Formats: sequence, C-alpha cells, structure tokens
Amino acid sequence: VKHTKEDVLNLAKKWDVRFIRLQFTDILGIIKNVDIPVAQLEKALDGELMFDGSSIEGFVRIEESDMLLKPDPSTFTLFPWAGSDKYTTARLICDVYTTEGNPFIGCPRSVLKKVIKEAEELGYTFHVGPEPEFFLFSTDDKGRATTQTHDNAGYFDLSPVDKGEEARKEIVLTLQDMGFEIEASHHEVAPGQHEIDFKYADGISTADNIATFRFVVRTIAQKHGLHASFMPKPIFGINGSGMHLHQSLFKDGKNAFYDPNKSHQLSDDALHFIGGLIENARSFTAITNPTINSYKRLVPGYEAPVYIAWSEKNRSPLLRVPARRGIGTRVELRSPDPSCNPYLALAVSLKAGLDGIKNKTKPPKPVDQNIYEMSQGERIEQGIHSLPSSLEEALFELESSVLMEEALGQHVYHNFIAAKRIEWGLYSRQISKWEIEQYLTTF
Ligand code: GLN
Ligand code: MG
Ligand code: MG
Ligand code: MG
Repeated sequence: VKHTKEDVLNLAKKWDVRFIRLQFTDILGIIKNVDIPVAQLEKALDGELMFDGSSIEGFVRIEESDMLLKPDPSTFTLFPWAGSDKYTTARLICDVYTTEGNPFIGCPRSVLKKVIKEAEELGYTFHVGPEPEFFLFSTDDKGRATTQTHDNAGYFDLSPVDKGEEARKEIVLTLQDMGFEIEASHHEVAPGQHEIDFKYADGISTADNIATFRFVVRTIAQKHGLHASFMPKPIFGINGSGMHLHQSLFKDGKNAFYDPNKSHQLSDDALHFIGGLIENARSFTAITNPTINSYKRLVPGYEAPVYIAWSEKNRSPLLRVPARRGIGTRVELRSPDPSCNPYLALAVSLKAGLDGIKNKTKPPKPVDQNIYEMSQGERIEQGIHSLPSSLEEALFELESSVLMEEALGQHVYHNFIAAKRIEWGLYSRQISKWEIEQYLTTF
C-alpha cells in the first residue's frame, strides 16, 4: 500500500493508535526504535524529529551527532499484538537524514536505494524473494535462551502439541495481519528449525520486510516462551540457518531474465547477472555473511554453499536457477544468512549483478555434478573457487574491492570493516572449549 501523510494521520485516528515506533537499522542491521506518542506523529511525518546519531553503531562521531528521521508513510503498519495491550502501537520505517536535509550516507536503507536507482537508470526493477530460516529454542527457568530445541527438549515433555509449530502458526498469522503475503512455512531439516517464505517484492520492500520479519518472529516466539534465533549456525553437526535470496530483474513489465529462444531459456541479462555474482562473490560475502559464526555454516555437508558455481539442477553451488521460467525466472543466491543487514546484502548482490550486466560478464559453464564429491584437482580444472572460509578472509576480500566500496559508499564501507575487524580481533584471541579439550592434557 502506498500511504500518503494524510492517510497515515487518518489511519492513526481510525485505529486509535497511541504510540508510533520509528524504526531504522544501524550498519550492522540491528533494528533501532524511537517511540513517540501519537501527538508527535505529524511532526515526525514532516521529518522534523531529531535523534542522537552518536549512540548508533557506525553512524557518526559525537561532535556531529544530530540526525533526522524521515518516515516512509507507505510503511505505516499496526503491531497486531499490541491490540491486546493497553496501548495500540504502530510503526513507520524511516530513512536517516542529516540536519541539512540530505540523506545520511551511513543509512543502510539509503545505500540500497542508491543501488536500486542505478538499476532503474538502466531500465530495471529489482525483485527479491527471501527464504529466511531460524531456530526456535526453549528458554530456561529464568527465561534465558538455551540451545535446546523444543522437539528434542526432553522426555518429560508429554505435551502432545509441538510448541514450535504452534508458535510458527501464530507468527504466520501475525505477519499476514501486517500485510505480508506468506507463500510457505515449514519445519526445516534440523530439529527446532523453521522457515517462512514470503512473496517477492521490490528491493526496498523486501529489505524492510526482512527487518520486520526478524522482529516479529522474536516477539511472537517470546510470547510462547521460546527464543527465536537467526544465528547462522547455533549447533555443531546439524544444518545452520540460511536466507536464500531469489532475485530477478524486470524491464518494461517483463521478466528480463527470461528468453524463450535461448538455451536454458535464460536471457543474456540473466547470464551476465550470474556472471557478476560469481565474479564478485568473494568480495560481497562479508556483507551477506557478516558474523564469525556465519563461516561455521558455510562448510560441506549441511546444504549450505561452499563453492562458487551455478547450476540449474543441484543445490550444492552458490547459485541455483530454479526450474520456473516465464515471469518466475530467477536466480537463487544461497550464501546469505539471516544475521546480515538485509539492506546492505541486497545492495551488494544487486551491485554485483548489475556489474555483470554492464560488463557483459560471461558466467562459467553451469556445474551439474556434486561439487563436494569432486577432488580439489577437478575443481581447480573447472575454475571453481571457494567462498571465504572465515570472516577475516571475507574482510580482506571486501577491503580489496573497489566495486563494493562504490556499492556501500565510503562511510558504510569503512565503518563496517572497522567494526568487523574489532569483532574478529576479539574472537581470534579467545580460547575455546574445543581447544581446552583438545590440547590441555595432550601437551
Ligand atoms: N539450511 C540450509 C542453509 O544453510 C538450506 C536448506 C534448504 O533450504 N534446503 O542454507
Ligand atoms: Mg525453502
Ligand atoms: Mg530452507
Ligand atoms: Mg532455497
């Protein structure tokens, strides 16, 4: 829905809204909120609400800390679960602006808008459908999150209903109340693991939806006494959680990836887009897989990609072209995980694909064998490289990419790398339980 300012004011009255949550994300993709009473709504919609940007990760230095929030009226939505509370609350997603009235270069939503504009200048509309996966964990008697999944929580649990399934159903209903079109929701491979797929939309709406989704899932899970986690690999030895991104470009209302007269019925645009993703995959991985833990998911054996290749048939490579053709022709990028900043992840993958289109990058031949079963020698022969195997390696690749610097803009690029280097530094000095078990008595 495309609300105007007037619509929002009218709806707020009609729904008897008492509070509005102004929502945006920091560079690391963490949702930030400022709650305002409804009396401030008009002022907020005029983009006059100031906040202190220095308290937000990677935003600005203290001496230039005032920022403005500019709400996007089309994102006005009720939080349905607040209806049962005393105070009805709605939310608006905002762009961050400087006090001079310019889009703030450190705002991830503005970064994505910039890359989308680049696509539009070439005549393309970017569509993305995500498949976020997550775990539902039990909480302990103090309400703290554990890594016990409900399906294997213990023998004493005689309850015939699966708490996780119940929670997932309420999550789906809540999302629908908020205007999401849910295509599928199912239990995933691992115990306690779930997936909810929502319909593809333009890039900004999808990034907004992913940010909202994570928040709704955690809120509703909590109501059920469960903890929802989007951590990419919470448990050793079983599947981790990915967030596959199905991407396509439209031109003049038609799917630009579809060409019935070409081999595989894929257009040159589709092949070049794939070429760009493959060529830049190592550079954008720090953004699509931004945590230390992300790289514990990208290992062989758990349906997560390790090798940079594309295929129509098998699911082991980085990119898959699902069988659907015509309007549903798309490329599925399988590396992203749900700990990423959705705005930045969409920005870098679109940038990589567009780069392929601009340079007419020819992709390598599709690989229909199981890449995991190939020897290292066979992989080298076919020119199949691996994704970075650690955050450190991924940061090194990001830091060497001019294209990524251009996609993210200086501010986000440098602040992201700096924050993540600190994270890597802290982690790499830790002594893990595994090391103690392995070495303490051996040496
Ligand atoms: N959980 C797998 C991953 O990490 C994906 C499983 C699937 O959807 N087939 O990407
Ligand atoms: Mg799926
Ligand atoms: Mg899945
Ligand atoms: Mg998938």
